[in-house]
Amino acid sequence: KLYNMVQDLKGNIRVFCRVRPIFNSEMNGVIDYIGKDGSLFVLDPSKPQKDARKTFQFNQVFGPTSTQDDVFRETQPLIRSVMDGYNVCIFAYGQTGSGKTYTMSGPPGRSSTQLGINYLALSDLFQICDKRRDMITYEKYVQMVEIYNEQVRDLLSENSSCTRYPFMSPETFNLHIRTCSSEEDDGLSLPDATMHSVNSTMDVLQLMEAGEVNRAVSSTSMNNLSSRSHSIFMVHGRGEDTSGGTISSCLHLVDLAGSERVDKSEVTGDRLKEAQYINKSLSCLGDVISALAQKNSHIPYRNSKLTLLLQDALGGQAKTLMIAHLSPEEDSFGETISTLKFAQRVS
Ligand code: ADP
Ligand code: MG
Repeated sequence: KLYNMVQDLKGNIRVFCRVRPIFNSEMNGVIDYIGKDGSLFVLDPSKPQKDARKTFQFNQVFGPTSTQDDVFRETQPLIRSVMDGYNVCIFAYGQTGSGKTYTMSGPPGRSSTQLGINYLALSDLFQICDKRRDMITYEKYVQMVEIYNEQVRDLLSENSSCTRYPFMSPETFNLHIRTCSSEEDDGLSLPDATMHSVNSTMDVLQLMEAGEVNRAVSSTSMNNLSSRSHSIFMVHGRGEDTSGGTISSCLHLVDLAGSERVDKSEVTGDRLKEAQYINKSLSCLGDVISALAQKNSHIPYRNSKLTLLLQDALGGQAKTLMIAHLSPEEDSFGETISTLKFAQRVS
């Protein structure tokens, strides 16, 4: 193996936590302590001081002053294991506004130091391929889709930009997920989503931006839809070394829909349906990852489109990283605890 730098001691499932800065200086924070050893202390604002502290443990914790590069450097070994033929999945989990998109892509109008994991990861893989050009040829292809209300939409097809919810025709909108891989299969779970060959980081950046625009276009027609859908950036790699050995692997970068619970008494109709789909798919994801962590014989992939689509990318030798995102303000305490519980459950 060329790039086996991942410490397998940690197993195949890792959980990180990232706390974004407080923007409103009027607000109190609930994060009491962030340790280099991955520990995190949270204070329950409704409890007296002595009972307020709750402790959580992760593989890594990033505080408000952590940079994009700090986060990337901790994920780099995992990302490089794609070159060894491992499938890798990275998920950003958390309530809307907690920094998921910031971590994965960077803020809107980002500067070069604000680029997120998806760009830095690809750029790293390109650099490695370049250095190893004499030993291995490795081709990369990208697909990008979103899942909204349990329907899969291509974000990179030519007509994505003119398909708006809820007027899209079902054929172009709701992509078929292939689950049983046969001999002659290309191993793709979404054979109908457009595939784009990428040869440089520039190519990747352009595709990511096109995908983001298509995701945003539909958001304007409904309330901030982008926080109500899961976006999945897939990088497929096919490599051949000088001895004729082949590797094929995939990196999935997933910006999940906001995990916040909606108050059933306040929303009805479409908003309620949307919230129920999100809750269901996030809890299915939790079920699948914790079943994998416990090495259960039955893994409930089929209970949601998200897990079905990621079936091959999650099981077996695959490596998974969940990055739990926290909004540190006092008024987010309830969501913070539920994010921490979710993260704890899958670790
Ligand atoms: P989400 O995708 O979870 O809804 P965003 O990534 O859009 O959240 O983040 C919400 C806001 O906070 C954005 O304005 C974003 O730029 C900012 N933000 C998030 N994380 C950080 C961070 N670590 N440092 C600085 N700003 C951040
Ligand atoms: Mg977002």
